[in-house]
Amino acid sequence: MQSIVEPGSVVGVLGGGQLGAMFAGVARRMGYRVAVWDPDHDAPAHRIADQSFSTPFTDHDTRERFVDMVKAMTLEWENIPAELCEWLEQRRPLHPSSAVLRVIQDRLTQKQFLASCSLPVADFAEVQSGHQLHHVISRLGLPLICKTARSGYDGKGQWLVRQPSDVAQLERVLTTSSETRWIAEQFIAFVRELSVIVVRSVSGDTRVYPVVENRHEQGILCNSRVPASISSGDAEAARELSVRAVTALQGIGVFCVEMFQTQDGHLLINEIAPRPHNSGHYTLDVCTVSQFEQQVRVTCGLPLGEVRLLSSAVMVNLLGDEVTAVMSAEGSRETFSTPGASVHLYGKRVIRPGRKMGHVTFTASDGETAVASAQQFMSRVKIPPSVIPSHS
Ligand code: ATP
Ligand code: MG
Repeated sequence: MQSIVEPGSVVGVLGGGQLGAMFAGVARRMGYRVAVWDPDHDAPAHRIADQSFSTPFTDHDTRERFVDMVKAMTLEWENIPAELCEWLEQRRPLHPSSAVLRVIQDRLTQKQFLASCSLPVADFAEVQSGHQLHHVISRLGLPLICKTARSGYDGKGQWLVRQPSDVAQLERVLTTSSETRWIAEQFIAFVRELSVIVVRSVSGDTRVYPVVENRHEQGILCNSRVPASISSGDAEAARELSVRAVTALQGIGVFCVEMFQTQDGHLLINEIAPRPHNSGHYTLDVCTVSQFEQQVRVTCGLPLGEVRLLSSAVMVNLLGDEVTAVMSAEGSRETFSTPGASVHLYGKRVIRPGRKMGHVTFTASDGETAVASAQQFMSRVKIPPSVIPSHS
């Protein structure tokens, strides 16, 4: 059993994006001091950190200073170099582990792992060349999605191949890209996308949050609704599958299992994130203990917190320019006067198309009221207007 890291100690977080900032904010509220390491000087978590490092992750002097300073560590981004994590975890507790990262960082390795554990995933194959692509298409059929094995996020590094005429274009991408490892997956005509946050401690104690229903647009999460508009049997199946996946991985930390639900009701795992997730932000506003507090608890060896949904919620991401509609005097007056709206702005200085700049969580005692508030908000800020998954 891991000994408890007492409040007042310094905990380290690798990566300083909005997830690291939310972790740091909650950790400080719980009495901890936080050391953040992110090479980007502008990363949001630096503003909240007690100690900040913005050298590259390859800097040996920083890794010594970082590990000397902290009592325990976690991470907020799955692409932290696994070698660095391996070095750090030999000196202080780090969750999740480098072994988990090595499986997750590579989409192909991750899918092979899930399939080897008999966990349901879309049919997939490795692709290294245009020649192989034809072979894979004859095996998997069309449409399919081809993804770089490493370092994609928010739908980046993905190509959808719908028809034979798309193949030539992808072949060109495959031959000119610096990436050499790709995964092709059968395109799933899902009826809905679901996700579940699972928390697992060193002792194997596990907490499972309610099922969330997500809507992505162009590969980027647009909104999340909780509880998902599915039957209790389907919700139980999604939660059970998520726990099975995290347990198979022997994961310790906070995990998000993203799933597709197909027309015939089957669940397929899309991917696992070894950290708090955008679709779990609602836990900050409507759960007894948030995903970030659970991350602090696992990191510090504290008992896990109760998972209880206090109200229905819809979370809407503010992507790129959409944030300006909330930050203007008029826009903020309107948003802040909406009953049940909780505004989170990440303080990023540079706005880029599709960049996650903030989110707003709409809460209400019933799901339909939360959806109506969120829908009204989205019709004001989203161009083009977006929709929230409705009851089937
Ligand atoms: P994120 O970082 O937001 O989780 P990502 O870049 O890691 O995204 P994925 O989760 O693999 O990438 O894909 C993003 C979205 O693209 C999915 O949520 C889904 O909407 C769509 N997608 C991905 N793979 C498939 C598939 N095999 N069939 C149908 N849609 C898919
Ligand atoms: Mg995803």
